[in-house]
Amino acid sequence: NIAADREELAMGKLIVVTGPSGVGKGTLLRNLLERYPDRLTFSISATTRSPRTGEEHGREYWFWQRAEFEAKVAGGEFLEWAEYAGNLYGTPRQPIEQAIANGQIIILEIELEGARQVAQSFPSARRIFIAPPSMAVLETRLRDRSTDSEAQIVKRLSHAQIEIAAAAEFDLTIVNDDLEVALQTLESALMLP
Ligand code: 5GP
Repeated sequence: NIAADREELAMGKLIVVTGPSGVGKGTLLRNLLERYPDRLTFSISATTRSPRTGEEHGREYWFWQRAEFEAKVAGGEFLEWAEYAGNLYGTPRQPIEQAIANGQIIILEIELEGARQVAQSFPSARRIFIAPPSMAVLETRLRDRSTDSEAQIVKRLSHAQIEIAAAAEFDLTIVNDDLEVALQTLESALMLP
């Protein structure tokens, strides 16, 4: 359908990237952004979790108090939001609508529940799942990055199993074994040169 394709191009594209914590989504997406800074926009999510060392308010996330976050939920200010490992995470709606109107490719890096909400509200969004080569590799990566407490790691691993079991809901699954191979697969999926 040529008319619909044109409309989609003119309207920009919403891409959802989901995958278990520790799978390397962040590294993959940072590399992609470095290659295509003019064409890609990353959504900055809001969260109630505390910043990790090196994270900045307004760069990695908007770090909001729970009361502030909940007020924005009540005000309909999120495109989607979910609770994950004891914290709230959400995508502020306004910047996304702006980016789509500007014809940009906008990437949401969000967990499973949020990806399901976007499938409902934006059926044309492409949804990509990033999978680890194995659970053992995922566990090693989560422990090696040493950003999370043992309790957080346990929660993240149990979530990972639920997310991996839902991979078939996505349009495409990319196994992040070799970074360069995964990047190339992602580029061709997004029809980047
Ligand atoms: P982390 O605490 O490791 O930064 O993120 C934990 C999980 O929350 C990851 O799976 C990440 O993709 C997800 N996440 C980050 N931002 C959002 C968001 O805006 N909405 C939803 N639903 N999940 C998010």
